[in-house]
Amino acid sequence: MAYPTAVQSLIDAFRLFPGIGAVTAERLAFHVLRDGRARDLARAIDRAVKEARRCQVCGNVSEADPCRLCSDESRDRSLLAVVEEPRHVEALENAGVYRGSYHVLMGALNPADGTEASHLGLESLLGRLKSGIVEEVILATDPDAEGEATAQLVLEAIETLGDSAPRVSRLARGLPAGGAIEYLHKGILEDALNGRRELRLRPGRSGG
Ligand SMILES: [Zn+2]
Repeated sequence: MAYPTAVQSLIDAFRLFPGIGAVTAERLAFHVLRDGRARDLARAIDRAVKEARRCQVCGNVSEADPCRLCSDESRDRSLLAVVEEPRHVEALENAGVYRGSYHVLMGALNPADGTEASHLGLESLLGRLKSGIVEEVILATDPDAEGEATAQLVLEAIETLGDSAPRVSRLARGLPAGGAIEYLHKGILEDALNGRRELRLRPGRSGG
């Protein structure tokens, strides 16, 4: 038996979200139909999509484009921290331990939830690096399996820039394994930044 088209479209829409399988999508769709607050959710989604734009420079969510951080002339543009999510920018900013610029991937490599390399906007990162202003990229992804895989992916992308690639470093290993950087307090974040180690670019790469 087929569901009405409108209901099936709702189920299909839920299935596009990370980690949502067929059964969960159905459950969510019928929950929406039962619960009057669903209209509030629909309005909130509509508003967020309309009003929260992404900074064309760093990829972070922002009300302005470029965002406040990218417009701030006092930030050190020779340093670029690559993070997974906007909340990681918040964590580093709240800790007050970093004065460089950011690049927000909006996710981490995670085949299980369908996040692939093509979703992470590495082209825009490479575009920024080609300007030559950035001297060091700090891979500040989480110290978990997805974060490490993402760091490796970003490193390999940067290597394609050849001789014009900036230095690449990774936050120090002092981070608790599996910990998310937004839960770390200032001292640990500061140590992780100060103790960052440079990653060796593979020798013998061709320029360009
Ligand atoms: Zn920005």
